[in-house]
Parts: sequence; structure tokens; C-alpha cells
Amino acid sequence: MTDGIRARAAVAHECGAQLRIEEITVRDPGPGEVRVRIAACGICASDLHVWRTGEGIAFPAVLGHEASGVIEAVGSGVAETSLGQPVVIAWIPSCGACRACRAGRTHLCSAMSTDAHDGSLSLNGTPLGRYMSVSGLSQMIVVNERCAIPVPPDLSLRSVCPVGCGVTTGFGAAVITGAVRWGESVAVFGCGGVGLSAIQGARIAGAGRIIAIDPNRARLELAGRLGATDQVSPDETEPVAAIHALTGGGAELAVEAAGNAAAARQAFDSIAPGGRAVVTGLTSYSEEIRVPMVSLLLDKSLHGSIHGSADPARDFPKLFEFVRRGELRLEEMAGPDFPLEKVNDAFEALASGRAIRPRIVFEQTP
Ligand SMILES: [Zn+2]
Ligand SMILES: [Zn+2]
Repeated sequence: MTDGIRARAAVAHECGAQLRIEEITVRDPGPGEVRVRIAACGICASDLHVWRTGEGIAFPAVLGHEASGVIEAVGSGVAETSLGQPVVIAWIPSCGACRACRAGRTHLCSAMSTDAHDGSLSLNGTPLGRYMSVSGLSQMIVVNERCAIPVPPDLSLRSVCPVGCGVTTGFGAAVITGAVRWGESVAVFGCGGVGLSAIQGARIAGAGRIIAIDPNRARLELAGRLGATDQVSPDETEPVAAIHALTGGGAELAVEAAGNAAAARQAFDSIAPGGRAVVTGLTSYSEEIRVPMVSLLLDKSLHGSIHGSADPARDFPKLFEFVRRGELRLEEMAGPDFPLEKVNDAFEALASGRAIRPRIVFEQTP
């Protein structure tokens, strides 16, 4: 083993300031760890949020938590047969020892961190924060082997990287947290990567009416191609009334994927008695939502959801199988692609709403 290896990474030095491409040091993998050469990393709205606000992270840090790559070095205790294995990185640690993991609820693993400082990445001797314990905006990272989920070799690492966050978050919000059943009506607020994945999850699970709500016309059209049966622009139609009209009294399930409290309240208001509203978006930590207490008496529920309540080791392989069958369509939501040097353009593309899921593709990726 050595003193580590040099890698290029996009480093966030302060809130909202341009990310800088720097040569950092990636330490060797320790016991139970693997070093992954990153192939691709999607830019998620949460990256944008922490970069702008600093909430949940201390700078300097390396953002990016929706990454795929190939295992190129292993620490002690990890089988050498893992070398060369293509993987998607899970930001859920699934430690196996905490109360949540022992109860089979690994998405609530207490080892999860928005700002891991494990010393595995450093810049001129200064440890770098690792957003969601991933830091996919680095050519190489070190993660626990439990967080490197194998990808079937016939799938493109570029295509499947969003399974690491947005796809699982949306799909799981509808299918796992929201437990959509066949024939149920589903309303999805926000048609970014998470919302479009919720729509696809609802379609694959056999939902009946799937109503997409977004002010962006192009996104509504894409939602239609990916499974939405109805599209509502809140700039033209009041969405809660529209959903009640389309469903004859409210949706059974509503998913908030717009990242704001107003949409969460609308999601709750759009469900029928007995319905479930699932909130996925990350907002400012001080944001609050209010719902009329009396409406809870109608068996309505308001659920939070993190990472779609998914267990990466259990659920990523299922998602990969849907990708292989062409049922879960990732490329239509993805891109455009940027090299690491253009990372600030990728952030701008997401911030402006021009791109749904801009992606950094590293030069070694086929
Ligand atoms: Zn994310
Ligand atoms: Zn745990």
C-alpha cells in the first residue's frame, strides 16, 4: 500500500462559489473498503441545495452522490475477485449494526452522514467533507464495500448512475414508501429526475391514473412518454381541484418531488380519504408545512421518505432488471453530459431548469 493516489476532483470551497478542479489525494482502501474509479455522476437537486446553502455540510467538500464506477483496489478482508467489478455507489451505509439496520430498515441507518469526514479525501493535507459519504465528483473515491452495489456487466455505467439517488428516491417513494397498488390513482408533483422516476415506478407497479404536475411543458410531455396518463400545469389549472376532478374525489397516493413546502401541502390536499402523501424533496431546514388536523381523521397520512425507503443491496438489482427489460427508462431523463472540467456548467444547467439530470462523465467512461 502507498500514501494514496492523486485524483482530480471538483472541490466546493464555500457556499455558492464556483467549484474548482483540484488535484486531491485519495487514501488507500482500509479494511472492508474498496477504491472506485468513478465513471459517471449525476447532479442532484440536493447537491445544488447544499452547495448554495451549506446546510448539512462543512466546506471544503466534494459533492456528488449519484455515482457509478469500477472497483480498482480493495482493502484487507475484501475479495480480490471484486477487482474490475462495475458498481453503483449507495449513500446508505447499511452498517448492519444500528437499531434501524437490525430492524431491516437500512434506509434509516444511523451511520448515514451528509458530511462524512473520514479523511479518505484530502487537499494539501486538509481533509475534505464527503457529501452523503460519496463525493462522486472525484475521479476516485474510497467507500465501504457494502456501499458498492454490483451492476450487471451488460448495463451502461453512464445510464445507471442515477439509481444511486434520484431514480431510487422517486421509484421507491411510489412503490416502497407509498406502497402503490395496481389500479390506484397517483399524483406526482414535480417532474424532475425524482418525479419522473416515481411516475415510472407507478406505471411498472400497475397504477391506474398517473397525474403529473409541473409548470414546465417539456417536462410534462416527457412525463406522458414515461407513463403519466394526465398532465397538469399549475400555471394554467389549480392542481388540487384538477386531481380531485380527474380521480373522482382525490388520488390514493400523491408524491411530492418538487422540493417545496407548497407542493407538499398540495400533495396532501390532493389525496382522497384513506390516501397517502409522500414527501421526498429537500428544502431549507427551517421550512415547515401545516395540514388541517381534522383531515387526518379521514385516515389521510403524510409520510416522509428518504431514498425511497429502499435497501440498496436488495433493491438496486431489481431496478437494474427493470432497466434491462426497458421498463425503467433512464436515458430519456438523463443528461446532458459534461466533463468534470465543466462541472459549473452542469450545476447551472440544473439550477436554470434547462436539464433534468445533468451528468458528469469521466473521460475513461466508454
Ligand atoms: Zn440526490
Ligand atoms: Zn445501520
